[in-house]
Amino acid sequence: MRNEIIHNQTKQKTYTELFDKSYTSSETRLKIIKNNEKPVQNVRLLIQILSVLLSIWIGIEFFLFIKFLESGGNTIYIDRPPGVEGYLPISSLMSLRYFIATGEIHWAQPAGLFIFLAIVMISLTIGKSFCSWGCPIGFLSENLGAFGEKIFKRKIKMPRLLDIPLRSLKYILLGFFLYVIFLAMDIISLRNFLDSPYNQVADIKMYYFFARISRFSLTVIIVLAFLSVIFKNFWCRYLCPYGALLGLAGLLSPVKIKREISSCIDCNKCSKVCPNFIDVAKKKYVISDECTSCLNCIDACPVKDTLYLKVLPSSKILNKKYVAILVVGIFMFITGIGMISGNWKNKIKLEDYFYHMERIETSEYSHPTGTN
Ligand code: SF4
Ligand code: SF4
Repeated sequence: MRNEIIHNQTKQKTYTELFDKSYTSSETRLKIIKNNEKPVQNVRLLIQILSVLLSIWIGIEFFLFIKFLESGGNTIYIDRPPGVEGYLPISSLMSLRYFIATGEIHWAQPAGLFIFLAIVMISLTIGKSFCSWGCPIGFLSENLGAFGEKIFKRKIKMPRLLDIPLRSLKYILLGFFLYVIFLAMDIISLRNFLDSPYNQVADIKMYYFFARISRFSLTVIIVLAFLSVIFKNFWCRYLCPYGALLGLAGLLSPVKIKREISSCIDCNKCSKVCPNFIDVAKKKYVISDECTSCLNCIDACPVKDTLYLKVLPSSKILNKKYVAILVVGIFMFITGIGMISGNWKNKIKLEDYFYHMERIETSEYSHPTGTN
């Protein structure tokens, strides 16, 4: 099949007509070149799988560390993996405020701060890309949605009347956390919280939350998983405050998807593949807090140089293959700074952990707000 096809003003011609019938006309105006760039979805999948494997590895190490503590030191000793702090974003947000106010990195969950900064920096650079390239929950959510699409043979969209108010839920949650951490708490109460026995063992508390999960919490998780099968990315789209923060940070990113209106053939493929229901085929630039830079739309576009990443305000184009390098590179660079500077492992000694473990069920180790 020829790669170059000539067509006239017939933007309504389908992709098949344009590329399979070598459409020509005497009223030739525009030359369309087929997009031969390799898709990046396999690379994205590989990075997602590596991220999930890393999380599983951290989970196993943390499990063995807790078993060591529970046994009073009678099982094999495995160092606590600092990466577990990546699952404590509220504590990390508090550490960030503490760092801004005092210039000090708090000793209880320092790795969490570096992981948090790395993820925000990725979003500021290349949009909300952590959600679709690195987040294990995003990966799970994406696959539950893909499973649902197979069952229902289509993407089910939440009715617009519900979609808009539901999408605001994650911002309400984010607003609440930002208000409490940055406005309601003074620096003394913030330090008291970070120093508290609860915060020191917040990771262990999180482990017990899942290991001894209540019927109610399990039901909530099952319902969320079920809703994610029906409505793609239900958790991420409606409820995740972390994603809300990254979406806002992503709006500030200079890298945006641009649609070249002059060469677009209006095939609508980009809109159809977007997991976040963004009508890419109607945009000049994709500027949306929901865009996760998954690049499905760019991969799907059949016309060369019609959908691409542009670095604003310059006219520079960013090749899509650099997204993977940027996401992984920024993450490794910022967490690497934490490791090299000696701020990766927390300053809680093993004997302190044994002390905490003996008392972890007491009220002293409840959440300072009384919510446990
Ligand atoms: S607009 Fe494109 S990059 Fe953004 S979420 Fe949709 S498909 Fe992915
Ligand atoms: S930008 Fe979208 S509508 Fe236009 S040619 Fe590419 S995939 Fe088709």
